[in-house]
Amino acid sequence: MSDHRELAKVMDLFHFEEHSPGMIFWHPIGLKLLRLIEDFMRQIYQDHDFAEVRSPVALNRSLWELSGHWQKFRKNMFIVGSSDAEEEPDYALKPMSCPAHIAIYKSHKRSYREIPMRLMEFGMAHRNEPSGTLSGCMRLRQFVQDDAHIFCREADIRNEIGNFLRMVKQVYAAFGYNNFSIRIALRPEQRLGSDEQWDRAESALIDAVQALGYTYQLAPGEGSFYSPKIEISMQDHLGRLWQCGTIQVDFNFPQLFDLSFVNQKGDLEQVVILHQAILGSLERWIGILLENHNGVLPLWVAPVQIAVASVSEKSADWAEVIFRRLKQIGARVELHVSDRTIAKKIRELSARKIPLIAVVGEKEAMNQSLNLRRLGIAGQKEIPLAELEVELAHLHI
Ligand SMILES: [Zn+2]
Repeated sequence: MSDHRELAKVMDLFHFEEHSPGMIFWHPIGLKLLRLIEDFMRQIYQDHDFAEVRSPVALNRSLWELSGHWQKFRKNMFIVGSSDAEEEPDYALKPMSCPAHIAIYKSHKRSYREIPMRLMEFGMAHRNEPSGTLSGCMRLRQFVQDDAHIFCREADIRNEIGNFLRMVKQVYAAFGYNNFSIRIALRPEQRLGSDEQWDRAESALIDAVQALGYTYQLAPGEGSFYSPKIEISMQDHLGRLWQCGTIQVDFNFPQLFDLSFVNQKGDLEQVVILHQAILGSLERWIGILLENHNGVLPLWVAPVQIAVASVSEKSADWAEVIFRRLKQIGARVELHVSDRTIAKKIRELSARKIPLIAVVGEKEAMNQSLNLRRLGIAGQKEIPLAELEVELAHLHI
């Protein structure tokens, strides 16, 4: 197994600079990988009736004072001075998107017809972590997270938790993780809200997990001061556990920010907020994914799926025909027709972890075919051009 930073280097995905610790410089192929994951998640969220939003990266100090972040987490936030310090207080770069989504909820008077309202954002978050704790993608100062908030009634909690668990299962399986464990973190000693409220919130979480037949661990005292939460840890191929997904029931922000909707009787009713993330930090997710697959990513998410390599100059034209055909089919493909030897090309492309290599020589040009090799699997297969699309469909390209 290689470290994700090493893999990122040989695959030309991204790098770090000493002058910007904890922040990533994405290269074209790396950004493609990030976008593929975003697009996949965007579709999953859409399918489950979440609406995507985008909010500012910097929010005014007054908002963070109201949310309590200024008092509790100021040390971990990047503070940005306003250009007119006498007129206006400072800003902080958001460590999470909750207050911004609350602002979107509050921008209208809400009716029961809009509830549950599910908002999600690929939110750019900044956290001023101590430099000694930074560790490649696994702990960063700037990252994007799939940050979602559900504004619902207390009676909706169970259903929403069930949806969340179904989404988690679907997403984790798509990336090759079929095992995950569930922890339910319960009320801590220091807490807000009444015991009845905690009883209801905790049993809603436990009921929803049980209803889907999952086993779980209870973690008494480990909930946040305003709510219980579910933490999902997935297991990678190396047996390591990674806590990525989370959903948290929150009665506190709705009270602080006075969030309500007009119910069926025409009365104002307070909402509950569920904070959820499935991947958490996308950068960390990518770090885990790279290490888990040792860089050879599942084809559907590989930023370069296939490279076409010519054996000699005589087969360059045919290699280009194959390349164009693959592009037309929609494959993410590169063409390599330089005069380097085919052995060298294959070595370089394999080192870059490109999962498929189409080798094209004079024989293939004559047969109107290509020779397909899959990284990590011995042997190769000659495929007539006419059958290429069917062959790739089998591979989910
Ligand atoms: Zn939140």
